[in-house]
Amino acid sequence: MAIERTLSIIKPDATRRNLTGKVNAMLEAGGLRIVAQKRLLLTRAQAESFYAVHKERPFFDDLCTFMTSGPVVVQVLEGENAVAKNREIMGATDPSKAAEGTIRKTYAESIESNSAHGSDSLENAAIEIAYFFSATAIVG
Ligand code: ADP
Ligand code: MG
Repeated sequence: MAIERTLSIIKPDATRRNLTGKVNAMLEAGGLRIVAQKRLLLTRAQAESFYAVHKERPFFDDLCTFMTSGPVVVQVLEGENAVAKNREIMGATDPSKAAEGTIRKTYAESIESNSAHGSDSLENAAIEIAYFFSATAIVG
């Protein structure tokens, strides 16, 4: 097991319902530490660039509209196997398929408005973290 860092985003459906603390309590209870954090309104260009891997998917435009519909909280999580651990705590993309007790099962409104983002690999975590944070903004 290794200490890793991963990028987490609390999505606009969750900030709108004032769930930032509740989502982060679940991440912290799962053993992850928040080592960098900021609240921001993504621009369309930022959302399109962040989700560029999905640009050919039918849901891409709607996803970018959703991700710019309100504030997000972007944060770096640190801990043992943080990439996989964050995704385990979040649950499946589709909340109807997510396990009981996960963030998405508990709070997501739909497969799109699913409350949280988590990097899907250590390699992508490094890319996504660097997209939002300079090294000096991360305090472990
Ligand atoms: P995850 O966030 O679990 O890694 P993906 O990377 O596949 O999932 O998709 C990125 C985001 O795009 C999802 O979290 C969700 O907000 C949205 N999304 C994924 N699949 C769909 C879909 N079939 N319809 C609408 N939105 C979707
Ligand atoms: Mg993904």
